[in-house]
Amino acid sequence: MILLCERCYAPVDPAADRFYRLAHIDHSDADGNVFWRHTVVHVEACPAAGTVDPVEQHGWAA
Ligand SMILES: [Zn+2]
Repeated sequence: MILLCERCYAPVDPAADRFYRLAHIDHSDADGNVFWRHTVVHVEACPAAGTVDPVEQHGWAA
């Protein structure tokens, strides 16, 4: 699964990037069960959205 930073939308590499995992409440059902939506966000300040080319950042092949 590809992780995308919730703040800058750049890919997060679990092996190389420092990131926090966040849990947001998605919804609950009639029985009171809560469904969670898990996201990640970079620990360091993010670059402005759209300024990072994932291929340049990580050397990934297209
Ligand atoms: Zn980010």
